[in-house]
Amino acid sequence: MSAEEFRRLGHLVVDYLADYRANVANQPVACSPAPGDLLAQLPLTPPEHAEGFEAVLRDVETHIVPHLSHWQHPNFFAYFPSNGDLSAVLGDFLSTGLGVLGLTWQSAPALTELEDRCCDWLRQMSGLADSWQGVIQDTASSCAVIALVAARERTTGHGAVTTGMQHGEAPLVIYTSSEAHSSVQKAAMLAGFGCEHVRKVAVDDARAFDVSELRGAIEADRQRGLRPCAIVATTGTTTTTAFDPIDALADVAEQQGLWLHVDSAMAGTAMILPECRDLWRGIDRADSLVVNPHKWLGVSFDCSVFYVRDDEHLVRVMRTDPSYLRTDFDDQVKTYRDWGIALGRRFRALKLWSLIRTHGTKKLRARIRRDLDNARWLLQQVQQCPPWRVLAPMQLQTLCIRHEPVGVTGDALDAHTLAWLERVHATGRAWMTPAQLDGRWMVRVSIGSLDTERQHVEELWQLLQAATQQKPPGA
Ligand SMILES: *Cc1c(COP(=O)(O)O)cnc(C)c1O
Repeated sequence: MSAEEFRRLGHLVVDYLADYRANVANQPVACSPAPGDLLAQLPLTPPEHAEGFEAVLRDVETHIVPHLSHWQHPNFFAYFPSNGDLSAVLGDFLSTGLGVLGLTWQSAPALTELEDRCCDWLRQMSGLADSWQGVIQDTASSCAVIALVAARERTTGHGAVTTGMQHGEAPLVIYTSSEAHSSVQKAAMLAGFGCEHVRKVAVDDARAFDVSELRGAIEADRQRGLRPCAIVATTGTTTTTAFDPIDALADVAEQQGLWLHVDSAMAGTAMILPECRDLWRGIDRADSLVVNPHKWLGVSFDCSVFYVRDDEHLVRVMRTDPSYLRTDFDDQVKTYRDWGIALGRRFRALKLWSLIRTHGTKKLRARIRRDLDNARWLLQQVQQCPPWRVLAPMQLQTLCIRHEPVGVTGDALDAHTLAWLERVHATGRAWMTPAQLDGRWMVRVSIGSLDTERQHVEELWQLLQAATQQKPPGA
């Protein structure tokens, strides 16, 4: 495509996206096509002859977007928000348009240096000590793998990177809570620990890591001759946004010589508010930390910031240094390929930089506070309105709720929950995620999309009440 064609077509794309964002609120928030619907509409073979980019844009409109749920919709209450502020979208566009790759500092000097500075801006915004060094990765899942590999090498004194799976006399063990994200288990499998060596320690009443259970589990493993290696804590769990007690876990990690990785994928964003930081008290004692600006903060996916305190250790673990990547500058600069898995690195810092500069930290804080306020408002409504129940402490902006009519229990309650959720979804005016808590279905309401204002939360509350006024099955 020539630069002149790009200029013309690029304007069409920007117009298309601007219209999409401006009008998305009028669309049903979620779609529910049958599996294979789109596949059946797509040509089986690639076109031999040029169709032109206009054909692509036309098909995006008529075939692709109708098969999408709208994550940037103000009535999106599913999963966790994944906000792509348009300033970050433009930053991402710049990144792709420039088409540079960070392989070494020299291959794209600004890429490394802007990433370095943006990670440090986010560190300051989050109230973290200046001993943390950051790097941008794709997802928190990748960061968990990196953290566990770094942990493995600290415990084995760089033994496993040297002699591989056969290293050492006894298996290494990872400790996480039963409420940790599935990516922790996956990372332990991929980093060579094996799922049998992941201890899913019980949680307390607030669904946070039970530290005395943890101490017991470590002791039992030591007695069996196993080697405790790392603790993976979560500040803001996926199901209920529970916060593990970082200070107490850091005590255990220090006493036992274990690596402490903190998964703060979603809730890390709340730490741009000083009033939230007590929730992760002790964070500066951890060894590694991940925060996803691609969730609540507003950086379009993907942008996951991984912080470590001992970056020299990490680089020693990951470093390969082939001759074709050696430069004269290597000992004066950060070489981010040695901070993670991939060699090639996108210029992701541009979208974080765009977001922070476009809005400034004050406006970003105001938006996060708005979401916390909206969640508190909904919490009050639900609490004042039995038989609605709030099932877990609401720490930030995600509520776990259930409508429990008198006499409806067990499987009938599950059926009731899923039925009213279906009725709400059928209106097209809200989308939420059901999840199991203690083996029973409940509904998570996660507030915090960019355009979600009080009126959208009020509308949601009306929908919830309307959907449950119908007679529950078996009542
Ligand atoms: C969303 C989430 C993850 C996974 O994030 P990815 O960046 O998609 O890998 C991990 N942990 C927690 C607590 C999360 O909320």
